[in-house]
Amino acid sequence: MNQAASENSLHASVSLAMELIRCPSIAPEDGGAQSILKNRLERAGFGVEQIERAGVQSLYAESGNQGPLMLFAVHSDVVPPGDVCDWTSLPFQPEIRHGLLFGRGAADMKGPLSCAVVAAEKFVQEHPDMPMRIGFIVAGDEEPANNHGTTDVLQWLHSQGKKVDYCVVTEPTSAERFGDTIKVGRRGSINGHLTIHGLQGHAAYPQHAVNPVHRSLWVLHTLAERNWDEGDAHFPPAGFQITNVSAGTGANNVIPGRFNVSFNIRHGPSLTVEKVESLVKDAMGMAGLSYELAAKSDAIPFLTEEGPFTELCSKAIEEVSGLRPDPATGGGTSDARFIAPHCPHLVEFGLVGKTSHQVDEHVAVTEMEQLSEVYGRMLRKLAGYVEGQ
Ligand SMILES: [Zn+2]
Repeated sequence: MNQAASENSLHASVSLAMELIRCPSIAPEDGGAQSILKNRLERAGFGVEQIERAGVQSLYAESGNQGPLMLFAVHSDVVPPGDVCDWTSLPFQPEIRHGLLFGRGAADMKGPLSCAVVAAEKFVQEHPDMPMRIGFIVAGDEEPANNHGTTDVLQWLHSQGKKVDYCVVTEPTSAERFGDTIKVGRRGSINGHLTIHGLQGHAAYPQHAVNPVHRSLWVLHTLAERNWDEGDAHFPPAGFQITNVSAGTGANNVIPGRFNVSFNIRHGPSLTVEKVESLVKDAMGMAGLSYELAAKSDAIPFLTEEGPFTELCSKAIEEVSGLRPDPATGGGTSDARFIAPHCPHLVEFGLVGKTSHQVDEHVAVTEMEQLSEVYGRMLRKLAGYVEGQ
């Protein structure tokens, strides 16, 4: 790539990101972000299918007419900005200060998504006979808990008989420095809810009551301290966190009759929801209290095994950033969890995510230029690999 082209791609990715940041796309609203991306991808020769379900706009775009499908999975929505008075500049008015682009979504993920769009535009233009197809899932609602943008688009892909061969999710994965981390898997997430029954009574006459808080605190402590799994080469040990507790009638002279406890476990492949249920039941059995337990898995863990795809992605990152990225599986969940079961080769790579979801979210403009270059190199290397197959 010559210098002029590289400057063009910097300008293009940053100005696209700024255009998108101006759209207050807090799901289910999209603030115009979807139509900007639709027009942009259509102009680059992508066929675009808009998918609207439950008031949420998402889209699928594809270019190329042969070979395996390489998918960029992105989302156009952002988390709410909170109190705008806490921001140095307004969250939906992008601003570049001291080489940093500020605005809601700069890191997660309007910046990285713009880098992917610009890299793909350029690649498609320069390789009209490319040996693969390039696709985009642009989900309209990745951030809310009950998101379905990506799953709706995947359903549509399935109905069209399309299968995903390779996928790059553009979540902000870099930890401290751009290029230091590539995600090759994600932990699973299990949510549980316990209702522990006691016997309500007068606080002055505890002999006539059973306090479910007193009777179960030590059991909850045991659950919080236990080893849920050992972890392995790819996954850290599972972690248990109590996320919500409630008890009491609101009166300060009443022993509560019921104690509600919610918990969350982030885990690797060796832990299942069935195993969690059985271990919690064993512990609760020791307290001798009646209880109800409901647990469900909100994300199944996945791992992309090391191979040519992870290697070419890591190499592209190393060539541009000078860092060999650490293949990691930590952090929260992303829409990768929905795509991974349908795609054998999936990685996540994006900008430094430190300010994601924060006030004054920002990214370095030079790192956006680098990211666009990384995505471009990933496409070129993958095309070379596919051609050599
Ligand atoms: Zn995100």
